[in-house]
Amino acid sequence: MEKVALNYGQAAYRGRQIYSWLYNYKNRFKSIDEINGLPLNFRNQLIKGGFIFGELMLKEKYLANDGTLKLLLNTRDNESVECVGIPTEKRLTACLSSQVGCPMDCKFCATGKEGLKRSLKVSEILDQILFIENEMNQKVTNIVFMGMGEPLLNIDALLLSIRSINEDFDISQRKITVSTVAIPKMISKLSELSFQVLGKCQFTLAISLHASNQKIRETIIPSAKNYHINNIIDDCREFVLKTGRRVSFEYLMLNGVNDKLEHADELSNLIKGFQCHVNLIQYNQIKEVEFKQTPSQYSQLFQNRLSKNGINVSFRKSRGLDKNAACGQLRQNAIIK
Ligand code: SF4
Repeated sequence: MEKVALNYGQAAYRGRQIYSWLYNYKNRFKSIDEINGLPLNFRNQLIKGGFIFGELMLKEKYLANDGTLKLLLNTRDNESVECVGIPTEKRLTACLSSQVGCPMDCKFCATGKEGLKRSLKVSEILDQILFIENEMNQKVTNIVFMGMGEPLLNIDALLLSIRSINEDFDISQRKITVSTVAIPKMISKLSELSFQVLGKCQFTLAISLHASNQKIRETIIPSAKNYHINNIIDDCREFVLKTGRRVSFEYLMLNGVNDKLEHADELSNLIKGFQCHVNLIQYNQIKEVEFKQTPSQYSQLFQNRLSKNGINVSFRKSRGLDKNAACGQLRQNAIIK
């Protein structure tokens, strides 16, 4: 931004002014006209020069009873992506999309039903944070890449986004989670590239495991047949050794599919002995899919069994349950309308 200012014959600090204005969540309407601190002629020059703020446009928003805000945003080529702001007492977590649609076709997911349209640009990923901050009038404190898309299939944009989240949004890598269904060779590539591009690898890697053995995993995640569950665990062990960061395993509780006590024991044997954490997730039923939610008493038994087996485990209830809250649902509904 300093270079832009200098190119227009302005002092470098004018560039810094634009920069701080852009990343200040209190500035709701991101337009060059609104930067009152800049001389009018400079603002006009920027507009004439084709500069614009923002990549996305708000299409729909939905505020759930628990304060979770879900946004449907349009891209310039008229695609749409979802992002979610999840407030708790001390945090505002932004759940970001990395692609329009997704090629992975996980059987429990609304986004996977439509396949991949395209990967998002860095600016489209970052703009989701600005929208959440503006709409919720609050600074985002934590980031999870758990929205639409498989982040490791858009790894360059992912890493550049993480750099900007760290440097421009002032959110440390430790408060960022990258969630993946796991793509062969990409777990080691993620840590290697992260060290190369960012100089460190301190974000949390979350693996959407959702099964305690290869057979069940293949029935709910078709791409699992290309990457054996034992190899995923081996690659995760290596990730922990290289980065010193524990890995989180996401486990969606699907009634009658993966939620029996024998599955808890099998999962414990699979992942025991290394730095990891299991996040059990309450399934958010969607009408496009036949899976059912595990009753809470069974989830509790499952969680107790993992704990008893020495596994770090927590249970995550779905937020914003009352309407359109499942992954990809808001977008699907908008397409159907
Ligand atoms: S769960 Fe994630 S990886 Fe699987 S289809 Fe949905 S968006 Fe893609």
